[in-house]
Amino acid sequence: MSADFDIFVIGGGINGCGIARDAAGRGYSVALCEMADLGSGTSSGSTKLIHGGLRYLEHFEFRLVQKALSEREVLWANAPHIIWPLRFVLPYHKGLRPAWLLRLGLFIYDYIGGRKKLPPTKTISLAKDIVGGPLTPSFTKAFEYSDCGVNDSRLVVLNAMDARALGAVIETRTKCISAVREDGMWHITTEDLRGNQKTRTAGMLINAAGPWVDDVLREATLNTAAHNVRLVQGSHIVVPKIFDHDRCYIFQNADDRIIFAIPYEQKYTLIGTTDRDYDGDPAAAKISDVETDYLCNAAGAYFKQPIRKSDIVWTYSAIRPLFDDGASAAQEATRDYVLRQDGGNGNAPVLNIFGGKITTYRRLAESALTLVEENLGRKKTAWTKTAPLPGGDFPMDGFDDLTRDIRKKYPFLADLRIERLARAYGTDVFSLLGAAQSAEELGANFGAGLTEAEVVWMMDHEFAGNADDALWRRSKLGIEFSPEQTRKLDDWMQAYSRQRVPAAED
Ligand code: FAD
Repeated sequence: MSADFDIFVIGGGINGCGIARDAAGRGYSVALCEMADLGSGTSSGSTKLIHGGLRYLEHFEFRLVQKALSEREVLWANAPHIIWPLRFVLPYHKGLRPAWLLRLGLFIYDYIGGRKKLPPTKTISLAKDIVGGPLTPSFTKAFEYSDCGVNDSRLVVLNAMDARALGAVIETRTKCISAVREDGMWHITTEDLRGNQKTRTAGMLINAAGPWVDDVLREATLNTAAHNVRLVQGSHIVVPKIFDHDRCYIFQNADDRIIFAIPYEQKYTLIGTTDRDYDGDPAAAKISDVETDYLCNAAGAYFKQPIRKSDIVWTYSAIRPLFDDGASAAQEATRDYVLRQDGGNGNAPVLNIFGGKITTYRRLAESALTLVEENLGRKKTAWTKTAPLPGGDFPMDGFDDLTRDIRKKYPFLADLRIERLARAYGTDVFSLLGAAQSAEELGANFGAGLTEAEVVWMMDHEFAGNADDALWRRSKLGIEFSPEQTRKLDDWMQAYSRQRVPAAED
């Protein structure tokens, strides 16, 4: 008896979607189930950086840093709309790490990662450079280095869209409730929100459930002893713009940790993150008062302007599913991924994914596919390194040309709206806006420039099912929306999904 699918992936975060896309492109038949919305777990709660992780050099994680650094330009080239280069300003702090150590770390950072397009590190005088303006005058010298920014939740969705275009079956709001081995294959039972259950078979199971990876092992496969991940909470705060330039700051704190202050969504500054062990439900993580105070104080120690709790317009928290390597402090646990296979040789294999970063998701998928090939036989070769994600088929330094083309075709759109749409959809903006010749033709505006045309695109092509998906993951417009606007958008989306003909698989 042959299985329904070669591979069944549990979890629609960046790792599950990245594996599904890679596997589908190599010719395997793939199904993926996600119990909530795509990217609604850890993958929408990151600091939104494609980075080597300067701090990990101190933990001698050279392999991880090198692997992550070398992915920066690969991912930027594949998705130049949702990934962009950033410069980070690291002020020298007299009481903390010596300047020579910072420079040495950045020298290593510059040279081990195959950097070609990103500019190298330089030393700057904070008295002369505008980036010194918002900082307290006691900081006089800084180093400036490169990394990239990413729209994390859209990276997940674009991988899922491409996986579907390559033949994968992607089911959202569908939980895996049981997975049992029988007749040399997996029998996987899923349940959707209405309580409908389905059982499908697969040759190989991939458990990419992020912070729920042990729960899946315990509850679905009845491996009661599973205890592989260490759950570490990280929280961020968002405040109105503290500075008016496009560079980011990385601040060292007296506790040896670092925090970032990053321009966010045109009007804001994102500050994070924290690092503390967590033992609750990952979906229920919320910033604590201690974390809020920590972030306000840590940023306030550098900026002239105090960061007050009352300035905060939004916060978010997510849980790092770190492989439990027995490190004593949360910030010391390895950030690298670990793949562990159980079964094989006639006994249907399961591959469990532990840890990993957004930055290394593509490499993680390639490592997972090496194990898939060992179990299921080889099909096509690795392909994702040079393959653009949906909307990313334009040159990595061609963002300005793209916005110019959009402005030419849709002169009725304001510049900030064009910039937001281009950053979200890349070249797919032209399909989304179609032949529209006026703002009215895009349908009602639900708020902050989110039109019916855009919401239809999110629902027909990007798996969005409700206002939460549209406002916090397909876009980040939730900050701009009142509860009333959110309710109206949700009502409209529910009405649309009742009347629409299911979209053609694209
Ligand atoms: P998730 O995104 O959590 O996906 C797992 C999915 O599985 C979830 O969507 C969940 O709903 C689903 N699921 C669980 N159980 C089931 C089930 N039974 N059936 C169906 N579905 C199920 N990395 C970077 O590279 N750069 C950064 O700047 C960065 N910053 C970070 C900041 C913070 C605060 C945190 C917490 C992490 C950060 N990371 C960063 C790391 C990165 O975000 C994570 O490693 C990555 O998102 C993990 O992805 P995942 O797919 O493994 O997990």
